[in-house]
Amino acid sequence: MSLNVGILSIQGDVQENVLSTQTALDELGIDGNVIDVKTPEDVMNLDGLILPGGESTTIGQMSLVNGSMKILKEKIENGMPVLGICAGMIMLSKTANDRVVGKTNQPLLDILDIKLERNSFGRQRESFEADVSMESIDIPNFNGIFIRAPSVSDVGSDVEVLSKFNGRIVAIKKDNVIGTAFHPELTEDTSLHKYFLNLVNSSKSN
Ligand code: GLN
Repeated sequence: MSLNVGILSIQGDVQENVLSTQTALDELGIDGNVIDVKTPEDVMNLDGLILPGGESTTIGQMSLVNGSMKILKEKIENGMPVLGICAGMIMLSKTANDRVVGKTNQPLLDILDIKLERNSFGRQRESFEADVSMESIDIPNFNGIFIRAPSVSDVGSDVEVLSKFNGRIVAIKKDNVIGTAFHPELTEDTSLHKYFLNLVNSSKSN
């Protein structure tokens, strides 16, 4: 049984996620295909999907225009595991505010009952790296790379907080949906990609 793992390939950190996912599959010894997802048709046969970091306004607008938004939402609501990274986590949210301009009317998937503050730690030049911990999923030490990163300002009662940094929520999980404010694909450490692929694998075998 081979896993079809998609990377939403509209804009952003696509190749980095292809590489991390391929490496993580090899390390786990799981047979899988890493698929560039560009159109609604590409979404149909996926077992799991990564929404990469990049620019959430562009990713949202393009997905809306090319008709992928609706099918993405349907597949995720029907249980397809998804890892949303930075802009990808913004895409999963219900409401996004920008730290400077306030409420943004950008297209969002509205999957998770979370509110987000975009660019929460500052703009590009305030990017930084910091150790983060995700104890509840057995990743106690992880090098978090934050680039124009959001933070989660409010979570619904069914959303688990996986990690906080400086008092702000930077990783969350609800069932098969994971979101991180930092970029695991920019580190050598594949542990978060491996955790996600194990989730995809067990959800496929169920
Ligand atoms: N600030 C970006 C946004 O709001 C996200 C940055 C990132 O994905 N690294 O879309």
